[in-house]
Amino acid sequence: MFKTLPLFITATVLFIYLFQISYKIINSNIRINQLEIIYKQKSFAVLHKYDSLRNFGKINPNKIKISTNTYIKHDFYYIDDPITQSTFKEIFSNATATTFANEYNNFNTDLEDYLKMIQDYYYSPLLAGLTDEGNDTIEGIDISFFTYTIYKPPYKTSSRNAPNCTILMLVRNWEVDGALKTIRALEDRFNKNHRYDWVFLNDEPFTLSFIRSTSSFVSSGKIKYGIIPKTHWNPPVANTSDKNGLNMTAVNLNMESMEKRGVLYGGVLSYRNMCRFQSMKFYKHPAMLEYEYYMRAEPNVEYFCDFHMDPFEYLYKKNAKYGFVISMYEYEDTIPTLWETVENFIEGEINDGCKLGNCWDFITDSGIAGKYRPVVASNSDYNLCHFWSNFEVGSLSFYRSEKYNNFVAYLDNTGGFYYERWGDAPIHTIGALMLLNEEEIVHFDTIGYYHAPFGTCPNSENIRLQQKCICDPTHLKNIDIQPNSCLMRWWKHGGGKKFTYF
Ligand code: GDP
Ligand code: MN
Repeated sequence: MFKTLPLFITATVLFIYLFQISYKIINSNIRINQLEIIYKQKSFAVLHKYDSLRNFGKINPNKIKISTNTYIKHDFYYIDDPITQSTFKEIFSNATATTFANEYNNFNTDLEDYLKMIQDYYYSPLLAGLTDEGNDTIEGIDISFFTYTIYKPPYKTSSRNAPNCTILMLVRNWEVDGALKTIRALEDRFNKNHRYDWVFLNDEPFTLSFIRSTSSFVSSGKIKYGIIPKTHWNPPVANTSDKNGLNMTAVNLNMESMEKRGVLYGGVLSYRNMCRFQSMKFYKHPAMLEYEYYMRAEPNVEYFCDFHMDPFEYLYKKNAKYGFVISMYEYEDTIPTLWETVENFIEGEINDGCKLGNCWDFITDSGIAGKYRPVVASNSDYNLCHFWSNFEVGSLSFYRSEKYNNFVAYLDNTGGFYYERWGDAPIHTIGALMLLNEEEIVHFDTIGYYHAPFGTCPNSENIRLQQKCICDPTHLKNIDIQPNSCLMRWWKHGGGKKFTYF
């Protein structure tokens, strides 16, 4: 009896221990199966089974932090008196306070003066001064003329994990409410912790009220307001010095006919200016020159979740060049001859020894992916898949590269941005797939984002809790579970589904 007791106790303890382990495993498997059943029924088979496993069991619901809205702590000082370092001393060490005070005083000039200068000069030929060749230099003109910069002191220490990055918003004055909505959300969900700069660009001068309100919504950092020179915005019309310019009569006829056929923005010239600018000019704007990466933001979009990682840092550390959140099919009516133009360009380049990126099939394979063939029929070998460019993160040196610029210059010469209505999204996409490899393009699968009429919401419940998402992945507006999403094609040809974890 006494001999067997220790053995009995050991066996019992071991049994209880093993029982607990098996119970945990079985229980989590049941939970995963439940999640899969719920998701699969509602979601057309695209959800990856490991999504529910990600972080499984690691998150303690009691430890999820409560949201705080503390990021606007400082009044914004429009510069009348120089700021002294004592302003910052409450929060920062002496040395840091001095740096911030210096930065602040160096950047802020008088806003009213700036606006007056813009008014005086706006209609003058100076604004047409950026030449379109080479490096866009303006001889004899201060390049800062095109940009007004505000520096806003930080409200707390925050880190920038990648160098020279900026959030870029192209926007019109009347869209100010939508811009504020976007800034508020992106600062709260992401940038208050990083203090990356903002750049606002407009083809017209920003109004005083636009500058005042938007800058008051940015928590801290540099905020730039840039005017786009006419030569970067308007259609390149034929004149005596440039015989290759557009035939505007033909452009107008095409616009009328596209409008009649109900093509989206078919009759809108300014939309074409915008798409061409975003395709081949934005990275040359003086306000953008100091940056290495940009994140595009648009007015009136939503960010559903806290960012669990810094997309700039992610691209920077992985040496990647382009990141996206949504991918879908383009309207073919807007790009009838784009693909043959691309093929002609490639033919010339291949003769020069150029190789296509290793996931080119993402845009040329029309075979089955997941359950579907492409739901949108195409008349060319382009399957019409593109990354949505209203949220994108990209390397500016990629866009400034000779190869990319040769590509867009070739496209531009055909006039397709205006005779048709080529969007910047397919141009960025085709350029990236032509010149980059799979590991240089990133799908950010944990970012929740909405731009009418579609959004994307992280599949994993744990991620949604951890990142305080306000979205439902089974909602029909979640593009990822719709047949018109190209995400499965990206998984097929872009090297499989990957999690954006370091
Ligand atoms: P959609 O997203 O394709 O439906 O087009 P949007 O109307 O949202 O335009 C895309 C982006 O370009 C938004 O950030 C707009 O604010 C901006 N945008 C469009 N047209 C113009 C314009 O004529 N001037 C300026 N400054 N921004 C524009
Ligand atoms: Mn938009």
